[in-house]
Amino acid sequence: MRILLVEDDAMLADGLREAFARLGYGVDHLARAEPALTAVALHDFDLLLLDIGLPDMDGLELLRRLRAAGHRLPVLMLTARDALQDRVAGLNLGADDYLVKPFAMPELIARVQALVRRSQSNAQSVMTLGELVMDIAAHQATLGGQALRLTKREWTLLERLLLAAPRVLSKQKLADSLSQWDKEITANAVEIYVSRLRAKLEHGTVLIRTVHGIGYRLEDARDAPAG
Ligand code: CA
Repeated sequence: MRILLVEDDAMLADGLREAFARLGYGVDHLARAEPALTAVALHDFDLLLLDIGLPDMDGLELLRRLRAAGHRLPVLMLTARDALQDRVAGLNLGADDYLVKPFAMPELIARVQALVRRSQSNAQSVMTLGELVMDIAAHQATLGGQALRLTKREWTLLERLLLAAPRVLSKQKLADSLSQWDKEITANAVEIYVSRLRAKLEHGTVLIRTVHGIGYRLEDARDAPAG
């Protein structure tokens, strides 16, 4: 999962970055609104965490411009305690949810996960495909009842493939999910992570099929068509 965080409070931004990093999520941080317009146009984010009080442009104005430009990514606003009008305006402008500062990190994480699941049309915290079970909220995966030990990148990769299944995900899209600006992941590197993940899935029936020239698809070998 890749999150864009637009927040001018550096300490809060660092805290959020660390908390999400522990879950294997990439957080790209901007302290101003203006560059966020470009970032959203260039990269494939799963969610925007948007502070409303920003130095260069009101977060609400940024939200208005993003929606006007047709960007549909989920937006969670971070607002001040007494800013009822901001919250109402933000929801009317197309924000999906809000949290009032100061907030508890577990609540923020749960809301972020819920919004991303909803936007992927998957309302379940526990996703399954054949013998594979991924509990997103608990951050646990099992294959045929055996715990899968995954690195953060392998977890993200598997989560994206499972959310997308039976659709094919492009290598570039997977690279975007695994990337942060300070550590850009190339499409070639995605191949390496896919092969490591394949090794860990080896003893089950779930497999990552290469769709040549396009990307990858997660399948249950027992009901997947050949080819
Ligand atoms: Ca602020």
